[in-house]
Amino acid sequence: MRELLCETCERAVRFLESLPTRRVAAFRDAGELAQALDGELPPSGLPASEVIAWLDEIGSQGTVASAGPRYFGFVVGGALPAPLAANWLAAAWDQNAFSEVSSPIGAALERVAMRWTLQILDLPADAGVALVTGATMANFTALGAARRNVLLAHGHDVDRHGVQAAREITVVVGEQAHVSIFKSLGMLGLGRDRVIRVPADDQGRMRVTALPALNGPAIVCVQAGNVNTGAFDPVDAICDAVRADDVWVHVDGAFGLWARASSQFAGLSNGLERADSWATDAHKWLNVPYDSGLAIVRDANSLRGVMSMDAAYLPDPTSRDPFEFTPESSRRIRGVEVWAAIASLGLEGIRLLVERNCRQARRFADGLRDAGNEVLNDVVLNQVLVAFGDDRTTADVIRGVQRDGTCWCGETNWGGRTAMRISVSSWATTDEDVERSLAAILRIADDVRAQPRLGG
Ligand SMILES: *Cc1c(COP(=O)(O)O)cnc(C)c1O
Repeated sequence: MRELLCETCERAVRFLESLPTRRVAAFRDAGELAQALDGELPPSGLPASEVIAWLDEIGSQGTVASAGPRYFGFVVGGALPAPLAANWLAAAWDQNAFSEVSSPIGAALERVAMRWTLQILDLPADAGVALVTGATMANFTALGAARRNVLLAHGHDVDRHGVQAAREITVVVGEQAHVSIFKSLGMLGLGRDRVIRVPADDQGRMRVTALPALNGPAIVCVQAGNVNTGAFDPVDAICDAVRADDVWVHVDGAFGLWARASSQFAGLSNGLERADSWATDAHKWLNVPYDSGLAIVRDANSLRGVMSMDAAYLPDPTSRDPFEFTPESSRRIRGVEVWAAIASLGLEGIRLLVERNCRQARRFADGLRDAGNEVLNDVVLNQVLVAFGDDRTTADVIRGVQRDGTCWCGETNWGGRTAMRISVSSWATTDEDVERSLAAILRIADDVRAQPRLGG
């Protein structure tokens, strides 16, 4: 065991050290790797060191350098040193964090991680929190509590008696709501399509004046951080418009919620603390390893009510078994990385991380604009959308950037146009990485424009 783990540690460290200089895109695609893997089912086992050697020598060629400093796709972060190391140690602990008895340290780390997170995000200290796999599950979990609560207000216990016998819940979403909201609504029996979509403005923000008059039971899904523009729905005005006991306001703030660590962005999330529930990711802007998200529910008992194993639970404020708050029962101690990230950065470190990434996003926008390209969004946070001309030119530039490998940016569609999306959310990104990436993008855009076009 000792030899295997020490050797693996060496391999992992060599991988991490290669990140700043290696090509950002993967060297081998999934098809090639599956073929390389596609041997006979081993009739007898291989030595563990050979299994790990294969993963390192062949498998790592299929990794994207998203943990490195110049990956700007999909709003991902990279794993900070402390939470990565904590993750390794916790894997050795191999704890089942379902209860306080099965893992005292698991339950304790979750409690502290939750309390600190609520302080950073400036949300109610007595809110219920579930540490789940990501923002999709956090949306699902929080909306489960919403469904329970708005129906209980009408005398129906949906968790015992089901959705079939329940009154219809009106569900309101912004036109630009994230796809994970629809998936969550589907899983909860509320329907992906049976929603009222409120029109959005040119930044993707819900138009408050277009909100329908609501008679409960109703759930309003608000977004704090549009995945393309970074814009926030005007949550304060939305709460003013829809406040009632049987109307629940849920906020999807997968990355945007972390902007609350800095007063620079206070204007964006004004009134966000008035909502009933919030979903966020730790594996995005908090830069912890996958998979880590948080569902936060103002009324902790709504969350406990929907997730507890025992429908006739008795709330006991002195203990907190994690399984009473999460969809999962047996699970790893997900709080360990959140705890380690916050412990190692402190409030100040998180503020600086958010402010640095947003400043870097503005630098990208300025550099791209100065070179004559069109920035399609107001760069209010860490997201930049840029077009390099017509859709075909932009798509060619994106492909060129991905092939070049200096950095990696993805493609999206904004306002009917093809755009390159730059998400700056990694602790590892230095200002020098931004300059190097910007220079590569501008060089590739010049090359694409200089090429004669074949065909129409
Ligand atoms: C990333 C994201 C999600 C989904 O998060 P996962 O961690 O991938 O489940 C939901 N909403 C928004 C706004 C996001 O950016």
